[in-house]
Amino acid sequence: MVLYGKGAAPGAAVGSVYIYNKKFNIPKENFVDSGKEQSELDRYNTIKKQALEEIEKIRLNMSETDPAKAEIFDAHKEIVEDIIINEEIPARILNERWSGDWAIYQVYGDVLNLLKKTPDPLIAERAADFDDIRALLLQLWYGQKPPDLSGLKEPVIIAAKELFPSDTAGLKKDKVLAIITEKGGVTSHSAIIAKSFGIPAILGIDGLLGAVKQGQLAAVNALEGTVILDPKEDVTNEIIAKNSILLRDMKDADNYLYREARTLCGEKIDIGLNVSNANDEELKAQNYTDSVGLFRTEFLYMEKDTLPTEEDQFLQYKKVLECYGKKPVVLRTLDIGGDKQAASLEQRQKREENPFLGNRGIRFCFSNPEIFKTQIRAALRASCFGNLWIMTPMIGSMDDIRKIAKIAEEAKKELDNSGVKTGDVKIGIMIEIPAIALIADIAVKEVDFASIGSNDLCQYMCASDRTNIAVDDYYSPLHPAIIRLIDGIAKTFNNEGKPLSVCGELGGDIQAIPLLIGLGIRKFSMGAASVAAVKRTISKVTVVECEELAKKALTLGTAAEIAELISKVKEH
Ligand code: PEP
Ligand code: MG
Repeated sequence: MVLYGKGAAPGAAVGSVYIYNKKFNIPKENFVDSGKEQSELDRYNTIKKQALEEIEKIRLNMSETDPAKAEIFDAHKEIVEDIIINEEIPARILNERWSGDWAIYQVYGDVLNLLKKTPDPLIAERAADFDDIRALLLQLWYGQKPPDLSGLKEPVIIAAKELFPSDTAGLKKDKVLAIITEKGGVTSHSAIIAKSFGIPAILGIDGLLGAVKQGQLAAVNALEGTVILDPKEDVTNEIIAKNSILLRDMKDADNYLYREARTLCGEKIDIGLNVSNANDEELKAQNYTDSVGLFRTEFLYMEKDTLPTEEDQFLQYKKVLECYGKKPVVLRTLDIGGDKQAASLEQRQKREENPFLGNRGIRFCFSNPEIFKTQIRAALRASCFGNLWIMTPMIGSMDDIRKIAKIAEEAKKELDNSGVKTGDVKIGIMIEIPAIALIADIAVKEVDFASIGSNDLCQYMCASDRTNIAVDDYYSPLHPAIIRLIDGIAKTFNNEGKPLSVCGELGGDIQAIPLLIGLGIRKFSMGAASVAAVKRTISKVTVVECEELAKKALTLGTAAEIAELISKVKEH
């Protein structure tokens, strides 16, 4: 039997399955007798204390082996003590006589529903943390011993619904061959943990726990996203061989991490970093990237349920700018809406029939001018501390571009008039709506730079919702129409001598890089994990070869043909 999911951390393994089922009893709607409210609340407070002790135990354990990961458990403690949750649960118990377990289940459930509405990686991580804490509190409430993966004796393939940081805290790397889960996207905790351990992982396997048995032999191939149950010997041998090749390959790519990205013929390629939360861990990539190519600022609006102040934002932007020194930092202004929700903006985000075609990105900012102005002011103030480029998302027309120029000018004037210093700033756009891509020759005259957001450009070109797995087959970043569009945009920007980059997922895809170089792209921006392999690919191709490749690709009519063409690129 073969099961399919999404490969989230590379590698392959063969071994027996260990089903890790972290269940808690789902409480029923239940009420306490009148007069018992206070004692129910006292019990909740005791459970909370126990949870904090449990987490502290794990944290201490972890801080010896992996101090960076131990920080996750500080965040867990904050969740247990979360102000809103700890106003809400006592209120439900005292005012509505909810039982403690029902209150925990519901109140955490409400937060989870809110967080899960968005596929933003940062928020998805937060949702997993809240889910984890809810399970811990309920297990303690029912006196269940939380299951533990630290006692594994033999190396196994862990099969679970989803894995959370506390599940894997005591995990010994040499006891895990692979991780396979039913839930979790490629940026979920399960994926992050697997990647940091260097363990192959496949996530999002529909019906996994119903299909596997405890101890069953399985062959996991994360390169192809397949789990074969009871594999034959030839399959097993093939998978083991594939894995050793991959491990050698990853080690080899790491040799390129700190090198400059240059093609074999000497052309310098700019490697930018995609930043999504600006923490110290993420900013370590400053040591091996040429710029921040995409600073997604949404996290500032998602952290709390109040709006970030101008000062909050200024300090964050300053931190990133100072970290990158003279290197450019492309700060993308708020891109909320579509599938991205933020607690602090909830009141202003109306329900929409087609949110991806709705009040998203710059449109939301135009309809909430004070929010946009605050962000622009904070960015302009921070601009004295580094090399700031401001980029706006979801641009569809010249009207949008001109409106932004006006707002930026006004904000600068205001700051000048009140004696606040600002630095030189470039203003650019994301090209992710086909309408602006098709008038790039006009847009280029009125912007300082642009970045191609291939994730959205693909969704709008192919009319395929990027979050809807049911139409995944229609979502083709290598669609000839997209390749032709990128070709046109690159020619236009190169002729004008204005910087252009690709910052969507395509910009970190090693198979696509030679084709994009051939189309004229010289700047890419990506997550830190992609940098080493991208630099290696670049070092093994020449511009002339890439141009020949692009020329051929532009004659093809299907994404499959282009995929086949680029898969055959010969590296030197
Ligand atoms: C994109 O659309 O390609 C992009 C980089 O922006 P986001 O993924 O944040 O929408
Ligand atoms: Mg986008």
